[in-house]
Amino acid sequence: MRGTNGSDGRGSAPYLCVPGAGLGLAWPRGLALLEPGVDPDLAVRLWHLMAEGGDVTSFAQHLGAGRPADRLPGFALALATDAPADGAAVDVHLAARGRYVASASAATDQSVAGAGAARWNEREVAAAIRFTVRAVGDPTSDVGGASVPAPATPAAALPLVGGVLPAQRLQTAGWLRARPDAPRPEAEVARGAGEDPSTDAAPTDTLLRPAGPALGLGRSRPAARPPARGPRPVVPGLLCDAGHANRPDAVHCARCGVPLAGPPTAVPRPALGQLVVSTGEVVDLTDDTVVGRAPRAERPGAGPAGRLVVLPAAHVSAVHLELRLREWSVLAVDRRSTNGTYLHRRGHPPERLTETPRELVPGDVLDLGHGAHVTFRALPA
Ligand SMILES: [Zn+2]
Repeated sequence: MRGTNGSDGRGSAPYLCVPGAGLGLAWPRGLALLEPGVDPDLAVRLWHLMAEGGDVTSFAQHLGAGRPADRLPGFALALATDAPADGAAVDVHLAARGRYVASASAATDQSVAGAGAARWNEREVAAAIRFTVRAVGDPTSDVGGASVPAPATPAAALPLVGGVLPAQRLQTAGWLRARPDAPRPEAEVARGAGEDPSTDAAPTDTLLRPAGPALGLGRSRPAARPPARGPRPVVPGLLCDAGHANRPDAVHCARCGVPLAGPPTAVPRPALGQLVVSTGEVVDLTDDTVVGRAPRAERPGAGPAGRLVVLPAAHVSAVHLELRLREWSVLAVDRRSTNGTYLHRRGHPPERLTETPRELVPGDVLDLGHGAHVTFRALPA
């Protein structure tokens, strides 16, 4: 178990926790609540998974690993595009299974109840200024628990920075600042089969609502909002006990060396290595990458490439070379460059790349001529 409770109240801790029998997870971009009885070690692995960029599917797969599909433990999950600690509204992905509810407040209150879901129910809420995960019947809430009388004195809500701890309810600590550019009414998409909206009315609880105006309590932040970093691609793989994602055929964790076991689950893919460019630039390979004199990200039918690397030399084509990440492989493709790309691999003669993807191994050098080159290497330990 780990928990980090702030000591100076709501001012600095982004979340509040009401202690309880379940297991609460809080990380910079989200909250989850697991039903009592889930192995705390599993909860810690899930916490690592989410802190490293896991999504709803990888969360549920890992929570249910080794169990029949209908024995997936109950949970509620709220996964935001940005850390609420930044103080501004976030887009949030809600999911719930069993006797759990995830909710968010945007232009209106939205919630997802797990009751009746074959797997789980989910929905996305844009520009949320608050989000909550809780058990149905949580006596500190005035919804979903009609059979449980609300206590005269609600359970104490403790400030929480992040971690794994016993809980029945977790939520953002204050109200986030609404985005002036947010669509009104918010774009909201409900998904999930069998969701019964009558199971849980829109949350109207006021228990933890701070006094004073609802909006404008967030800390100031730069006017230029950085683009939301999307979740990382999710691929089949193995997680070690510390939450490091590994190839599905790995025997030991590539980062910490512990033995790996079990069937692969969906894991957030880490960087697959680095490109060391002859300009001195070093690029982590987390996305497809286009290399050229004036690279562009378009590739018909394949979506935008994630990253551009500029090699400012006249003999380099504008779009010269592309690195494509496919599951755990790095593939190199020459983009019909004028002067070609040569693959130099230790122990092999140089090979001219074509438009047929060629899988790289660490140490490979891609030569674009006249001293322009990129080297593929493993991530530094
Ligand atoms: Zn590891």
